Amino acid sequence: MTEHGHGDQPSDLPPIGLPPLSRLTRGIRHGLGTDRGHHAIVPPWYPSTNYRFSSLDTKAGDFDYARTANPTRDLFGEALATLEGGAGCVVVTSGMAAATLVVNALVPNGGRVVAPHDLYGGCWRLFTRLHEQGRIVVEYVDLTDLAAAREALSTPADLVWIESPSNPLLRLTDIEAVTGLAREAGALSLVDNTFCSPLLQTPLALGADLVLHSTTKFINGHSDVLGGAVISSTTDLDEQVRTWANTLGLTASPFDSWLALRGLRTLDARLRVHAENAAAVVDLLRSHPAAKTVNHPGFGSVLSFDVGSLDAAARLVDGLRCIDLAESLGGVESLICHPGLMTHASMPPHVQDAAGITPGLLRLSIGIEGADDLVADLRAGLDRARTLPA
Ligand code: PLP
Repeated sequence: MTEHGHGDQPSDLPPIGLPPLSRLTRGIRHGLGTDRGHHAIVPPWYPSTNYRFSSLDTKAGDFDYARTANPTRDLFGEALATLEGGAGCVVVTSGMAAATLVVNALVPNGGRVVAPHDLYGGCWRLFTRLHEQGRIVVEYVDLTDLAAAREALSTPADLVWIESPSNPLLRLTDIEAVTGLAREAGALSLVDNTFCSPLLQTPLALGADLVLHSTTKFINGHSDVLGGAVISSTTDLDEQVRTWANTLGLTASPFDSWLALRGLRTLDARLRVHAENAAAVVDLLRSHPAAKTVNHPGFGSVLSFDVGSLDAAARLVDGLRCIDLAESLGGVESLICHPGLMTHASMPPHVQDAAGITPGLLRLSIGIEGADDLVADLRAGLDRARTLPA
């Protein structure tokens, strides 16, 4: 609960004789039944940009100006902080705003950032441009290789950026080991937890100082809100991030926060169907000769596979019925994309090569449609990929 507290929240302390509510239940129910005006179950959203003062130097309530704090945004942030087990959460306008915020708040001028060589293309572009400007020094390393991570962190650093599973190759980093190496190097560690959400992975419990989300993806889950969040392990870090979010003007709108909180409330149920459908699709891919390699860590519903060439990839996507060719992931609808030409297009070819992003690589975000329809659609696509053009 922040200092802007929602005073009618049920206490976290269980009544005598009952166990405490789980983190999941507390996160998903956060704010329900707290409306003091009309006793609504769902808390209203507060679009007002400003709040009354009762005298020249005293606010009438907890709020003054919506860039600084807003009741609806706070509720969403508190729910996310509860689910991640963090001390606080700052909610911003996009995942990239969250990344921009962390670098501005926590990396000094000329500071050294160690990041994975196969991270999300937008983050690669941000770090690379900031490096070119002289604002930071970024070093890209294969963080799934602990020897390489140890070598990179034998030199002091300011921030270690972890993305696990990575986008689009779904490589796994040993978060506990790398956050330990970061600590020894004097660096803060951050995990981009966009692919997992706090229901599949809680990086703060594995030693990370910060967690980042593009809430655009699984958290909101309906492909209709762009958003981001930074969850901190300590109130001190949260305060620094919060101050910078206000200073830079990155905080999210009340309505986007209200929608994303609504999405968050169904996250657990959605993830279960996503996982069931993804398992069926992985079974198909692993048994179909058109898929040369399949990348899926065994959990989650984002996966990638290689069909050998750009031509084969084009034949596969052309004609799909219930899987849309589009960027993004984590929504209720199934999507397919070509990372090399789409999400990771800002990486030049040699950087894509080094990261393993090949011309035949396709990424799938499996939605919650009927599994049989998805499997049939993809099987037809894989059959097309195998057929040589006339
Ligand atoms: N991090 C990851 C892993 C992503 O996949 C994305 C977007 O695809 C982002 C960050 C950036 O988020 P946004 O598009 O909300 O700015």
